[in-house]
Amino acid sequence: MATVAKAHCPVCNAQRVEKYRPFCSKRCADIDLGRWFSGSYAIPTEEMPDEFDIGTEELEEDGF
Ligand SMILES: [Zn+2]
Repeated sequence: MATVAKAHCPVCNAQRVEKYRPFCSKRCADIDLGRWFSGSYAIPTEEMPDEFDIGTEELEEDGF
């Protein structure tokens, strides 16, 4: 049984390219690398701005 051949990019599931193994492109390689970095460094990714919630809540309270 051959275990070669149909390997796919772990990022987007496209057919992978030998040059960018095991990914299909440099872009996907970068994406995967980014995941690794964000995971190991545990950087909080883009927190939601509280201003949004506070803004709407204030409006409701004022209305009443
Ligand atoms: Zn890909």
